[in-house]
Amino acid sequence: MIPAAFEYHAPASLDDATALLARLGEEAKILSGGQSLIPLMKLRLSSPPHVVDINGIPGLSYIREADGVLAIGALTRESELEESEIVRARYPLLHDTCKVIADPLVRNLATIGGNLAHADPANDHPATMLALGAEVVARGPSGQRRLPIASFFTGPFETALAPGELLVEIRIPAPAARSGGAYFKLERKVGDFATAAVAAQLTLRSDGAVEQAGIALTNVGLTPIKAVQAETSLRGKRLDDATIAQAARLASAASEPAADLRGSVAYKKDLVRVLTGRALRKAAERADRRR
Ligand SMILES: Cc1cc2nc3c(=O)[nH]c(=O)nc-3n(C[C@H](O)[C@H](O)[C@H](O)COP(=O)(O)OP(=O)(O)OC[C@H]3O[C@@H](n4cnc5c(N)ncnc54)[C@H](O)[C@@H]3O)c2cc1C
Repeated sequence: MIPAAFEYHAPASLDDATALLARLGEEAKILSGGQSLIPLMKLRLSSPPHVVDINGIPGLSYIREADGVLAIGALTRESELEESEIVRARYPLLHDTCKVIADPLVRNLATIGGNLAHADPANDHPATMLALGAEVVARGPSGQRRLPIASFFTGPFETALAPGELLVEIRIPAPAARSGGAYFKLERKVGDFATAAVAAQLTLRSDGAVEQAGIALTNVGLTPIKAVQAETSLRGKRLDDATIAQAARLASAASEPAADLRGSVAYKKDLVRVLTGRALRKAAERADRRR
């Protein structure tokens, strides 16, 4: 199918875009990489009368680390994240994640801002950002505000962005020494959405015990899930088999999957347990290398 007719807008500045979005209200959809929006429009699951293409707005694509924060512009493509030396060397959880999103063709266009703003529980970045304790920066007609990622996903395909607001930047705290992360995803075939996936980020103390832990789950609930009890269970403990097994059980208990063609509820819950164990072991191994 081809999409229903719509009016196309290409603002050249953020101010123009926010003014336009404020005027058009619910009638408008923002277009970034188009890798989620265009398929929905072609299937006529979404038929916005107005499409606001933000690709012509300068200054929305960058990856820079300064003042203890990795700042990523919303229009940064997955392929740019994947190829970024700073992401590869210092943010292995993020690097793992962008490598398993869709396929190279999609990753050349899809943006990190679109991935988060779309708020599909099957998208991979949301759990990663929850585990990393990120913030998003939103820009609307009355200015800019920062939102913790933990309060960003309000429902399936719903976020805390107000009507007329754009997501403009993602901010990730720079890792302390002895920090590492990993993303483990099971997919039916390369390029597919996750049957389930787990993001884990750890900071270890000098004695090897866990200082801080972030654990979040993809596609096992109506929103990405922060496995808070699993995180808490690790704090102050050495990562031995029993501690990892306990955290993995708690992460599994936090998941709320639905049965579908990818598997039963029981299968997916057990998958979360197994993937959490693997992600924690890999995160600890990487943290140990970054003394
Ligand atoms: C074949 C295929 C496989 C895929 N596999 C995966 C996968 O494995 N994992 C995964 O995570 N995703 C996957 N996706 C989905 C897609 O890659 C992501 O959702 C994508 O990253 C969305 O980014 P985009 O820039 O293309 O957003 P768009 O499609 O342009 O927009 C998506 C939504 O977000 C809104 N939006 C976009 N940018 C902003 C912004 N800056 N501020 C506010 N709202 C905004 C749009 O209005 C729209 O509602 C797949 C897609 C395809 C086509």
